[in-house]
Amino acid sequence: MDIKSKIESLRDELRQHNYNYYVLDNPTISDYEFDIKLKELQALEEVHPEFFDANSPTQRVGGAITKNFNTVVHDFRMYSLDNSYSKDDLLDWEKRIKKMVDGDIQYTCELKYDGASMNLTYENGKLFRAVTRGDGVQGDEVTANVKTINTVPLRLKGDYPERFDIRGEIILPIEGFLKMNEERVTNDEEPYRNPRNTASGSLKLQDSAEVAKRPLECLLYSIKGNNLNISTQFEGLQKAREWGFKVPKEAKLVNSIDEILDYVAYWDKHRHDLPYEIDGVVIKVNSLHQQDELGFTAKAPRWAMAYKFKAEQVSTRLNEITYQVGRTGAITPVANLEPVQLAGTIVKRASLHNADQIEKLDIREGDEVFVEKGGEIIPKIIAVDLTQRPDNSSPTQYISTCPECETQLIRPEGEAKHYCPNYNGCAPQVVGRIQHYISRKAMDIEGLGAETVALLVKEELISNYADLYELTEEQVIPLERMAEKSAENLVNGIEASKQIPFERVLFALGIRYVGETVAKKLAKHYKSIDALMFASVLDLVTVDEIGERIAESVVDFFSSEGNRRIVERLKSYGVQLEVSADKLANQTEKLKGLSIVVSGVFESVSRNELKKLIEDNGGKVSSSISSKTSYVVAGDKMGPSKRTKAENLGIPILSEQGFLNKLK
Ligand code: AMP
Ligand code: ZN
Repeated sequence: MDIKSKIESLRDELRQHNYNYYVLDNPTISDYEFDIKLKELQALEEVHPEFFDANSPTQRVGGAITKNFNTVVHDFRMYSLDNSYSKDDLLDWEKRIKKMVDGDIQYTCELKYDGASMNLTYENGKLFRAVTRGDGVQGDEVTANVKTINTVPLRLKGDYPERFDIRGEIILPIEGFLKMNEERVTNDEEPYRNPRNTASGSLKLQDSAEVAKRPLECLLYSIKGNNLNISTQFEGLQKAREWGFKVPKEAKLVNSIDEILDYVAYWDKHRHDLPYEIDGVVIKVNSLHQQDELGFTAKAPRWAMAYKFKAEQVSTRLNEITYQVGRTGAITPVANLEPVQLAGTIVKRASLHNADQIEKLDIREGDEVFVEKGGEIIPKIIAVDLTQRPDNSSPTQYISTCPECETQLIRPEGEAKHYCPNYNGCAPQVVGRIQHYISRKAMDIEGLGAETVALLVKEELISNYADLYELTEEQVIPLERMAEKSAENLVNGIEASKQIPFERVLFALGIRYVGETVAKKLAKHYKSIDALMFASVLDLVTVDEIGERIAESVVDFFSSEGNRRIVERLKSYGVQLEVSADKLANQTEKLKGLSIVVSGVFESVSRNELKKLIEDNGGKVSSSISSKTSYVVAGDKMGPSKRTKAENLGIPILSEQGFLNKLK
């Protein structure tokens, strides 16, 4: 087989597996086998850029950066939907439409997916562009981001029209949402509020590789176009499924308002069995011919109607307000509720966020409160039922000392939260910091779990993460539930963590606001903990994407003698506190401050190698030419529009060899 056919056949194969996995939910090969094939394709594409295809399965990992999203006028306007809330509303609607069309009316009932609407345009079976709803007339083009969503086919199957639009909802399944939040909590970031906002926010991220990491899905519900050869809504759904789209099977064809109400009642009750959130049902006149006759009002189609579920709400008693202390000392007030059934789960607790929130709602212990679970997965208290307030009730006094160590709390200016400043003596902070240090994304210490850390602290065997490196098997074996083998694993795991690269160690230190990405940036810039330790706020803010808040937090961390001592100890044990030598050997500052665009096909290095070269030498790779571009490195087949743009702006164009000579 020649290379081109080999590449094509790998693409086809991967496409099918992707479809089996994400759309059919029925994989036929293991993730591992899939990865191997994907890597094989990546390798081939890398050496054969002449066979580049923007719709290749390798493009799903993202990487394209969009600085400004282009505005695109929709070929077919994206209308909103009218809402109904009762049987009467539906009967009124039926009366109105029966006057305008002849014959019986059938309806398609569908779920109303709670996410962000999306219009996908396909041309000759390929994804051409993806545009948000915007104001209905025009939206933002977010193709690079949408391409990373695995349920969006990049190539269609079967007998599809030459060009058409298909509409759907970009959603974030609940499980994926919870997982993302778990990660945010380990990174000491505020969790996302709900899947809907997170999904729609994702579409406007500049870095598509970031979008690729999020488990978004696209559920489709409507096809628009000319000469589609489709005569009903329900048939459209079936066809879309055949072409490779994910179209939920819950859609149902019915003949009367009563049947619609059955469907609504069923899903109102069973909505929580679905892997994603819905906020109602959408009812559509099934015949497209009848739809045409009915047409649109200024705002919405006459042939469709949303039936919105009521936000689920209950009232229950607030028994007690307790306070949690996080690893950074942040205090979170928690409402302990009389357990109550809500939206399919039993709710016992709700976050009260901070002192302001309590004051705003005037929440008091003993109050009857309304708890709601709308779009939100985490229940929230929305109001107090004042008619039920006991006579002897008095306003909540927010705590002034730490519930764990009784230290006076502080509230930094401009922050909503209170903090316990007892950095070294407050148990949840001490334990939390070590738990963060050993966690998967930080030092990933095998054989040591969060509970064991708590136990080790309690038994006074450790009081900070540097102490871990002095633990011996003999010390650990007497602990509860600790077998000899596990003690050995624990000590080995700690030993192995000495190989973890500097950027992750930096993250593991648990400096406030220094999450994974910031740690990477700092490690890359300063290259060693010694350099970072001496950096001033003024110096830190010159680093790309490091703001004052982070800079101050870093300086603050190293201004503590205790922290400096711990860092010195880590160093003495052999933990990686600088970028490793072989990584450094290839790095220079030769391209510092330069913004470079790479275009075309290269001979002696691949495109990715070229980009890495630029970054390793301190330059910045930018994807589009602007007045800020320092120069363009042009290979063979540089795009003519790029060339014109560079010439017009007077941006120098370097050849591959010219650029490589520069680095020598
Ligand atoms: P609204 O935003 O309340 O006007 O509702 C209209 C929106 O509901 C549309 O823009 C779609 O994004 C969304 N929607 C979710 N599921 C469906 C569905 N099955 N059919 C049509 N629209 C839907
Ligand atoms: Zn405390």
